Amino acid sequence: MINIKNYINGELIEPVGQTYIDNYNPSIGKVYSYIPDSDERDVELATEAALKAFPSWSVTPKDERSRIMLKISELIEKNLERFAIAESMDNGKPVSLARMVDIPRAAANFHFYATAILHYASESHSMEDTAINYTLRTPVGVAGCISPWNLPLYLFTWKIAPAIASGNCVVAKPSEVTPMTAYLLSELCIEAGLPKGVLNIVHGYGHKVGAAITVHPKIPLVSFTGGTKTGAEIARVAAPMFKKLSLELGGKNPNIIFADCDFDKMIKTTLNSSFANQGQICLCGSRIFIERSIYEKFKTEFVTRVKQMKVGNPADKDSKLGAVVSKSHMEKVLSYVDLAKQEGGTVLCGGHQVKLEGEFAEGYYIAPTVIEGLNYNCRTNQEEIFGPVVTLTPFDTEEEVLMYANSTQYGLASIVWTENLTRAHRVASNLHAGIVWINCWLLRDLRTPFGGVKGSGVGREGGFEALHFFTEPKNVCIKLK
Ligand code: NDP
Repeated sequence: MINIKNYINGELIEPVGQTYIDNYNPSIGKVYSYIPDSDERDVELATEAALKAFPSWSVTPKDERSRIMLKISELIEKNLERFAIAESMDNGKPVSLARMVDIPRAAANFHFYATAILHYASESHSMEDTAINYTLRTPVGVAGCISPWNLPLYLFTWKIAPAIASGNCVVAKPSEVTPMTAYLLSELCIEAGLPKGVLNIVHGYGHKVGAAITVHPKIPLVSFTGGTKTGAEIARVAAPMFKKLSLELGGKNPNIIFADCDFDKMIKTTLNSSFANQGQICLCGSRIFIERSIYEKFKTEFVTRVKQMKVGNPADKDSKLGAVVSKSHMEKVLSYVDLAKQEGGTVLCGGHQVKLEGEFAEGYYIAPTVIEGLNYNCRTNQEEIFGPVVTLTPFDTEEEVLMYANSTQYGLASIVWTENLTRAHRVASNLHAGIVWINCWLLRDLRTPFGGVKGSGVGREGGFEALHFFTEPKNVCIKLK
């Protein structure tokens, strides 16, 4: 059994209260390590360490900050296999997915911001011969970074990297459900020579550690990724304290399939956009809208292929789906299948727990599930399920499908399949979403703005957007005469 430790002031230490939480391996449904059950005392220690480190880190030359971050990136790459196995064990996802996506992306996050900071420049505004303005962009101080369990290291580093690249110090909390790779990262930060106090990682529950970060008066900005309800709670606490907030929240993304699409490419990608990471990606397209003329063809082909997707041991090469993250999450997802039936839906495949054999018998596995026959505005089609469950709905016109697509409280991502270029542009501009993928999914350029509208969040991450968020602009106006 591994005892995970907090990373505070450059050291791996026990939580002040000396208590621990069980950490489950969801693929076997058993406890395999212990997580510090930290509280506001640990957050206080972390904040003090960050405040102490800030004066020096904030004036450390960009080249030096960049050099250390590149070292961290290299070390993640060097430890790719170990990290991929750890991520899979903690989260239930296939090792192949962690190896291909999660861990390389965590290394890329450090690499990207280590180099982005070298190219980050501020503006200057000339008032002809009267005056010149220039904008200074300075780090804010101590940044609070709170991340979820679905893409643990990937999303954790997506916040930390721009925060420290721009000269802030960080108090970070990974999800208590998946803390392992954040712990392994703290070991690599020590090895890379990151000065003590620049990054502090406090493990524990959201309502204790997350809440203590949110309310701390010396943490003036909070970057949060997680559920919309938690985001609202964070905003409620932080807004009257005038904190800077970046909120990346839930989604209920439409996947709109027009009859003129490239059918083969669309089917292949739609399997992925529906069920990658057991459907536990905020960007998954869980509401699939299909133009009526190809509805039956799509349904037959899609369901046939979904039935062939293997749910199994996450370490097996041919497992397409591993376990969902926890027992309570499995129960929540399955309760939505019951709700869908009550709402008049027909389950075309899946809809049940999968019982594996041997040591995996107690794991949390769900068969990929396809449901049809539901109204666009029923609860199943409006609420985020965040599991391997998609619904199929036919449509007749572009206007109708845009109305369906835009009908939820969310507005994170959208997927559109069409070979008609004019329609692609038109639909993209009319979708209420922060991200629109045309004829693809999850194709990411780290320079682009990332985030959602409506209940999917406030603010944008990615590229210089994140560097803007983690710095405070100050305009200096110099009169010339
Ligand atoms: P939660 O909102 O439950 O938790 C997210 C993080 O916040 C966790 O670290 C959690 O800790 C912590 N937390 C919980 N309560 C509080 C609180 N009161 N104050 C401060 N922090 C708190 O989300 P999940 O972990 O369940 O993640 C799934 C959600 O994340 C989905 O809704 C998904 O759509 C969304 N998401 C959004 C993304 C985006 O980019 N827009 C990307 C990925 C996921 P603990 O784990 O201990 O509860």
